[in-house]
Amino acid sequence: MNRRTFLQTCASAASLPLHRLAAQDKGKVKITGVKCMIVRGTWDWNLVKVETGSGLYGLGEAYWGPGVKDLILRQLAPHIIGEDPLNVDKLYTKMLMLSAGAGALAGVTVTAASGIEIALWDLAGKILKTPACNLLGGRFRDRVRFYRTMQAVDNPEDLGAWRAQVQEAMAEKFGWTAFKFQGDGIPPRADPEYKEPGHDRYTRGLTLKDLRRIGRAMETVRATLGPDIDFGVEAHWRYDVRDAINMARVIEPSNPMWLEDPVPPGNIEAMVRVTQTVNVPVCTGENLYTRDGFRPLIERQGCDIVHIDIPKSGGLLESKRIHDLADTHYIATAAHNPASPVGTIASAHAAASMRDFRVHELAKYIGWWQDLVIHDGPIFEGGYYRIREKPGYGVELNPDVAKAHLAPGETWWG
Ligand SMILES: [Mg+2]
Repeated sequence: MNRRTFLQTCASAASLPLHRLAAQDKGKVKITGVKCMIVRGTWDWNLVKVETGSGLYGLGEAYWGPGVKDLILRQLAPHIIGEDPLNVDKLYTKMLMLSAGAGALAGVTVTAASGIEIALWDLAGKILKTPACNLLGGRFRDRVRFYRTMQAVDNPEDLGAWRAQVQEAMAEKFGWTAFKFQGDGIPPRADPEYKEPGHDRYTRGLTLKDLRRIGRAMETVRATLGPDIDFGVEAHWRYDVRDAINMARVIEPSNPMWLEDPVPPGNIEAMVRVTQTVNVPVCTGENLYTRDGFRPLIERQGCDIVHIDIPKSGGLLESKRIHDLADTHYIATAAHNPASPVGTIASAHAAASMRDFRVHELAKYIGWWQDLVIHDGPIFEGGYYRIREKPGYGVELNPDVAKAHLAPGETWWG
């Protein structure tokens, strides 16, 4: 046997069992169990595992928060046991139909269903031996750009603290090309006792002094980043319409990529008025669920960028549908994201499948974040996540790291 035939023999021997497995699995693999395990990272991550009789399983993650695990295990799992996991859309629809009198629109029910939906795409990818994004219509890009969110500085009047934060963010080894800084919360941190004239714990106002503070802080960020690095400015729904418009005016000279959540999320018309008045792009949506939740915002041109939390708002396919609706209104899509690497990588697969996807969040990075999964090389390179040519999401949990960080009372896939 020469080298060539030897290699051909090895290749066919290696692929035969996999090929047989695929042929057997299509239409025959049935869901046998659903597990949920909470790992305490930057938040309490609700990790999901959908198991089958074939031994193949899918990994997913639902947006963090209490109650999600109970819903996954007690309410939703029984509806998909015994089902063919390849019917992902049907199973997502079935879970919601049977959980709230066919009326589930938002909240933890949708979040819990999102976590299972995400695990089903990983499983479908493993059954069909293809990356999950290939099941969402294929990909527009092999790499998804990420932005790094920084936490609030202690004293927003200290311009040296802003400079130091920017330098710290740029020094991270992942090569970020986009960031987000906290432009809100100026009164509580600059005036913790609310003693300055015009400050009040419950109003949504910004004084002239606050506006000056925000403007100078963002000028400092821009000067430190240089002219070409993107950054968003977070407002966390704190302001009234006029105050938000004033805030946009003072940050406009710093050319931010967006102002995020300028007014409370409950009144679409208020968001529309801000968006259509200011010259800074407005990004919002992390509190919304499903196409139904996003539809009025999109149809009324209520923002410039929809900010979808994919493991919260319906999962991969529902988020792609939200993107598609936004795209028909020429509104761009970005992703909000406090998830572990499991939810983050799954979300990046959806982002790869969206035509007008711009940038994906990574919030509150901690030292062992990427070690929670076994991965090829660094997860982020040059500020991007590259889709791996592996079935599903191409990652497995690192049991040692997961076990070391289980939330109190949790056991390994117990
Ligand atoms: Mg936000």
